[in-house]
Order: sequence, then structure tokens, then C-alpha cells
Amino acid sequence: MLKVVKFGGSSVASAEQFRKVKAVMEADPARRVAVISAAGKRTPDDHKMTDLLYLVHAHLRYGVPADDILAVLRSRLVEIRDGLGLAFPIEREFDGYAASLSKETGADELVSRGEYFTSRLMAEYLGFAFVDAADVVQFTYEGKIDEEKTYAAIRGAASERGRIVIPGFYGRLPGGRVKTLTRGGSDVTGALAAAAIGADVYENWTDVSGILMADPRIVDRPSSIRQITYAELKELTMMGASVLHEDAVEPVRRAGIALNIRNTNDPADPGTMIVEKVENEEDSEHFITGLAGKRNFTALTLSKRDMEDSQTLIKALQILDRHKVFVEHVTLGLDSFSIMFSTEEAEEDLYEIVAEMKSECHPDKVDIQEKLALISVVGRRMMYRPGTSGKLFAALGDKNVNIRTIKQGADELSIMVGVKNEDFEKAVRALYEEFAG
Ligand code: ASP
Repeated sequence: MLKVVKFGGSSVASAEQFRKVKAVMEADPARRVAVISAAGKRTPDDHKMTDLLYLVHAHLRYGVPADDILAVLRSRLVEIRDGLGLAFPIEREFDGYAASLSKETGADELVSRGEYFTSRLMAEYLGFAFVDAADVVQFTYEGKIDEEKTYAAIRGAASERGRIVIPGFYGRLPGGRVKTLTRGGSDVTGALAAAAIGADVYENWTDVSGILMADPRIVDRPSSIRQITYAELKELTMMGASVLHEDAVEPVRRAGIALNIRNTNDPADPGTMIVEKVENEEDSEHFITGLAGKRNFTALTLSKRDMEDSQTLIKALQILDRHKVFVEHVTLGLDSFSIMFSTEEAEEDLYEIVAEMKSECHPDKVDIQEKLALISVVGRRMMYRPGTSGKLFAALGDKNVNIRTIKQGADELSIMVGVKNEDFEKAVRALYEEFAG
């Protein structure tokens, strides 16, 4: 058994959190590769090292002294080092780096130092070898991850050096410059490392016990999801559930690796297991896996008598495509169709789109309805089970929520309903209660 383990910013925010990380690592010898984020917030009003480093960069760019922020960063690192009794000469290393900074220092290189220094401390504390991400994570000239080279380099480092710590979030461009991924990118580094060494599991340790069945800002203390398939996860994330960096799933899914989301502050909780296929279905407590939704969609309805072929719909979709509007949902009637898309995406172009629809599709009428919300109820166990949509409609009907539109995918993995923005929260709560409460 081989595991790649990624710890997020809150898991490495202080000496105390470092101790929890060590306990997790020591509890399972299969955990051989650790990917580490930059120290994050210790309390809700604390700052992430990454944010402070971006701030340093902004100061440098405008020629404003950044000494105070640098001092905060330095003292956080010193505090962790001293709290754990480590030997790493952080003062010398940090001061040397700070002295090298100038207006020309690139934001990516500067910001990557959060992961770099946090990982140096972690490597010493765990007794693992430090492998610099700049030596293994390689980008192409276009700024995309060069998977072949990255996998080979990580594989090489792991086999030569045994147990390793790799800083997340950054890598190197072909010319040698440091480049970061987008925010939250350590999730991606962890996924790449897991795929590279052919891990059995990619564990992503954070500060929540897995993925929740619904948004906790809407539903009071929703249960967490024990097991979910990659296909279900995709449905939930498409509808707004934020779980992992969106590029972190593909490398592990492709390699057939299970992804386990765990809580550093509650290591006994098994968290959420994300797999291609759930083997022992009996264990599942709830009929659905989860639900997610988003507000602010627009429905454009085009009516035309005797719309005998699909040409009008094709033209309408082409117009939206020209304006780079992602179509979320289409419903067809005999003499009309409705196309739904995010209001924000079409905001600037809406009048143009309507004008083009009128001149190219020759409709009798074009209607625009805004302020709609979409909610997706996701669950592999809904497949081939009669009565699910009946329950869903009854639950919403009982709460007096009018359903504007409905979609069930052919794979029966999810049912999506469109409601008015103002009914959104009420509908999410009603559905949660019906299927998971
Ligand atoms: N430290 C980076 C961020 O705050 C990357 C990460 O933590 O994944 O976005």
C-alpha cells in the first residue's frame, strides 16, 4: 500500500498543527510522500502566508517598503521552528531571500516561498527528504503541466530518496523560472505526485471531515458524505459545491486512484472516499449522495410557430457559442425552446444576443427570464428507482416552491430543478429534509 498525503494550509498553520501532521504520518507507514501547503490561518482573522506574500509583491512593485509584512512572515516561521525545536536556520535563509528581493522579483517566485519554507520545516520535522517542487514539477512553454516529465521526476525522487516532502503549488518553466498554479494548487501537486508514483490512495488532509451533503450555510449541520463516485463529484462541483481544486481530480481519476478527504483536527473520522465505483453499497446511509445549487441563471425562451426542424435551435446555440456563453440546460417545447445560462456570463452581451436571435432565427417572440436558481440532487442510488422524482416534486410542492424547469440526465445520476432565486434556500432545505434529513 502506498499513499500520497497532502496537507492544506490550516493543517500546517502552527507548531501545534505540525504535531498533528506528524501523528498522522506516523500512524501509517504507507504514507510515504507528503505534499505541503504554505502555513495558513491559525484563527479566522489570521492571514495565510500566501496572501501576505502577494501583499509583499504588491509593495515591491509600487516601491513601498514591505519590511513589516516580511517581519510577520519571518516570525511565523521562527515560531514554528522554535515550537518544534528544529535546527533549520530560518533567519539566515529568510533574510538572505528577503535581501534578494527587488521590483523585478516575479510574483510567482515570491509567493512560492510560502510553500518552500513551510516544507523545509516539515521535512526536517518528519525526518523526510526535502524535494524542491521546482526540480520535479515541470511546466511546458505554454504554462501547462508537462505530465510526462513531472511524473518521471517525482518517481525518480521518490525512488532515490525514499520518504519525501514536496512543497505544493509551484513548479518550474522550461527556462528555469518558478511558476505557480492557481490558488489552492497544492491539491494539484498532490494529485500529480499520487499519479506519478502509482499510489493506492491520495489523501487530502484539510480542516473538515470530508465533503458535506449540502451547503452548511443553508442547511443546519448537514451530514458528510462517506463514499462518492468521481462522476457524482463532478455533478456536485459543476453545481457549485467547492471541494478541491478543479484540476486535482483528473490525474488521480485517470490513474484509478481513490481520493480520501480527511480532517487533520479529527484524524479518527474516515472522511470522504472518492472512487470510480462504490463496492459495498449497503453501507450507504442516505438515498442521495448530496445536493448543490447555484443562483442567478437566465432563461431565454424563443417561440416560433411551426418550428418543424432543429435549425432554429441550432442557430440559437451557435449564437450563444459565438458569445462564449456556456449553456447549462435546454428545454424543448413544440413551438418553443428555453436555453438556460449563467446570468453573469451573458451580462454584457445579452442585448446583442437577443438582437442576433431575432435577425437570424426569425422568432415570433423572445422572452428573457432572470433570477433563476438551479439545484441538482445527485445520487448513484437513484438509478432505476421509481418514485424519486415524485418525492422531489412533492417536497417542493409542500413548501410552495414552483418548479420552473426540470432535467434528469440519461444516466439517472442527478435530477436538476430550476426555481426562482428567492425560493433557492427554501428548496435546498426541503430537498435535504426529504432525502437526507
Ligand atoms: N498556498 C496556496 C494558496 O493559498 C496554495 C495552496 O494552499 O494550495 O492558494
